[in-house]
Amino acid sequence: MVDWKELMEKDREYIIRAWTSVAEPTLIRNGDGVWVEDYDGNRYIDCSSGLFVMALGHNPRKVIDAIKEQAEELIQISMRQTCLPAIRLAEKIAMISPGPLKKTYYTTGGSEANEVALKMAKSYKKKFEVVALKNAYHGLTLGSLTLTSSTSYRRGFGPLMPGVIRIPNAYCYRCMYDFPNCDLWCARELENVLEDKSFYTSSAGDIGAIILEPVQGAGGIIPPDDWLPEIRRICDRFDILLIADEIQTGFGRTGKMFAVEHWNVVPDIMTLAKGIGGGIPLGSVLTSDEIAKGFSSGTTPTSAGNPIACRAGLAYIETVEEEGICDHALQMGGYLTECLRESIPPRYVGEIRFKGLMGGIELVEDRATKAPLPRKTMGEIKGSLLNRGLLVSTSGPLGNVFRIQPPLIITKEEIELVATALKEAILEILGTK
Ligand code: PMP
Repeated sequence: MVDWKELMEKDREYIIRAWTSVAEPTLIRNGDGVWVEDYDGNRYIDCSSGLFVMALGHNPRKVIDAIKEQAEELIQISMRQTCLPAIRLAEKIAMISPGPLKKTYYTTGGSEANEVALKMAKSYKKKFEVVALKNAYHGLTLGSLTLTSSTSYRRGFGPLMPGVIRIPNAYCYRCMYDFPNCDLWCARELENVLEDKSFYTSSAGDIGAIILEPVQGAGGIIPPDDWLPEIRRICDRFDILLIADEIQTGFGRTGKMFAVEHWNVVPDIMTLAKGIGGGIPLGSVLTSDEIAKGFSSGTTPTSAGNPIACRAGLAYIETVEEEGICDHALQMGGYLTECLRESIPPRYVGEIRFKGLMGGIELVEDRATKAPLPRKTMGEIKGSLLNRGLLVSTSGPLGNVFRIQPPLIITKEEIELVATALKEAILEILGTK
């Protein structure tokens, strides 16, 4: 028998964790499909997919078999040599990626991939400044943290990397210029920056790239359809690189293999992580021959291209393809939207937004003023959701979004359970206020 209360004490004693303030962490024993189970036998639907990694659920058979087989053959080598799984996975990614993005540089995770993408862009363009978006999340290492917009994540760590210029994101629900009458003012801001470099840059106007998430993870911010093509057009006009961070959106989450496919946009560099290792840590930076040929990274991250991670990632991507996971995610995203619209009391709903199974529900106190539901209330609802068997994270620039991003294999019945739990938790906490 595991005494989980004693274990949680040890967790507190020995582990430095990120989030402890709202709804205590739950000690997870095992997983099965969209479900995870704790040591008391309580089951939860994991609406965060193990932090948006386990699109195929928590026990994908093919991936588990691949990991076992590979562990018998070779556990770790490095990219100073190479190995069969690393080659096969890179070949597979080249086959499914858009346009000329055919060359993979392996990393061990997403933040590191964005660091490498920055280096690649800087060394190719010989320009050090980079544009990033409001509400962006690109990682927690010092360079990627500078690209990340949250000040609470940055507090106490400055000075960070010089040369990051921030522009607005396409947050249409709270558009300052009255979307859809705004003439895409958020994209225009990129044009303004590039036209008036003396005003925006700290250099001689040395802007080499923009980095963006095609759909922002924090709050599930989905841009209007003409936004990304417009950004691409501006990048071409001013000859800067477009770096698409598909770390969270990649491999089916939005209903396409890569989110940029929704808008037929081909970035110059694409960063990947999470699903790419099938649940084992791995990341990658994908680019064209042209950009890759002059790039020298010095040495390699120790575990980049790890054989087990690459073999797991290959099995994962093959399963996503074979089982039509992208289409399923698209359909289930639609069904989830429908169920939430029907079940959540409209007076609290700011916006329900999903692209495939990427997105969430933004809750407000007052629909007319769009005043966000306070963080404390969000925390109380989250606690109630935990009691009702739902692991869900709060997110968004104002902290008033429940991000609902379960494994992509979720069924209609499970979606109905999610919608019912949300409705009941909201009514429990807000019904009395
Ligand atoms: N970019 C995006 C869009 C992400 O969602 C994440 C992880 N949440 C990262 C970068 C950083 O990846 P990692 O946590 O693997 O360093």
